[in-house]
Amino acid sequence: MLWANLSLMRFHSRQEKGRMTTQSRGDGSTMSSTDHPIRNLIGLATLLLVLAAGSPGPERAPVGSPGFEHLGQGGPSTPIASPPAGPKTHIVAPGENLSLVAMRHGITAAAIARVNGLSNPHFIRVGQRLTIPGAGHESSTHRVRSGDTLWDLSRRFGVPAEAIARANGLRNPSHVRIGQVLVIPRGGGAAPAIGVQFIWPVAGRISSPFGPRWGRLHTGLDIAAPTGTPIRAAAAGVVTTSRWLAGYGRTVILRHEDRTLTLYAHASKLLVRSGQTVEQGQIIARVGSTGNSTGPHLHFEVIVHGRPRDPLAYLRGQGRASVPAP
Ligand SMILES: [Zn+2]
Repeated sequence: MLWANLSLMRFHSRQEKGRMTTQSRGDGSTMSSTDHPIRNLIGLATLLLVLAAGSPGPERAPVGSPGFEHLGQGGPSTPIASPPAGPKTHIVAPGENLSLVAMRHGITAAAIARVNGLSNPHFIRVGQRLTIPGAGHESSTHRVRSGDTLWDLSRRFGVPAEAIARANGLRNPSHVRIGQVLVIPRGGGAAPAIGVQFIWPVAGRISSPFGPRWGRLHTGLDIAAPTGTPIRAAAAGVVTTSRWLAGYGRTVILRHEDRTLTLYAHASKLLVRSGQTVEQGQIIARVGSTGNSTGPHLHFEVIVHGRPRDPLAYLRGQGRASVPAP
């Protein structure tokens, strides 16, 4: 079964790309997709999701689900994972140029030039105040590697290709240069309407929102809560998976009436079995830190038509005052 899944996953990956690609990592190095064991495991988890959704055909592969974020870094206590901040001000210091300022804030020089209306980005003065767009505005950047296309990036970050093209003023989206730094706008476009209403699966602090993070898409919403805190079904549904998944640790996946999936990862304890029907609010697992996680939290995913979507878009207004604005 495992072998078959991995083979199928490789088949999917060939179907999708038609060639071996390289993928960029947060540290700027690259690694091929076929010799990356973790990526294979990610692919397996992704495939399991497809199987859980009852649609194993390559045409329904969740191409917007590039991977999992807890692989060896981050977690609820990681400062970089805090909710998006608003714009900041930077006062230009001696010796700084726009590229340096941009690098310090993890955004592109073009983004700073645009926000500040700089007609000539090569000339900034010492002492000049620059507005630095916040994370909610320009969430992340990506340096184009060999083999990257706009469509690869679109899939990897869960952001429409047109949105990336627009954010970077690309006239010809089929030509991105190796080494070019692109702004990856936040969010994956408007969340499609779904036929179920969710409740919060856990009461706790949001320790990391959905969206681009460390050069990849963070495919869920992290809610920090003490180990053992009950995890509740966000809506009524059928348990399609209740077991250990690579990276995700002990995980429950529910399929809801309209075929939307919800996923609950890193549990310390699983309290339901595959095939079981659950009611909304039923306790299905307990919060833990299993899999690639650095502290107890729930990683909650909402998968609509095979694509992870921002859970907050569906949970908003469900009675928590501390929810950050989308
Ligand atoms: Zn997470």
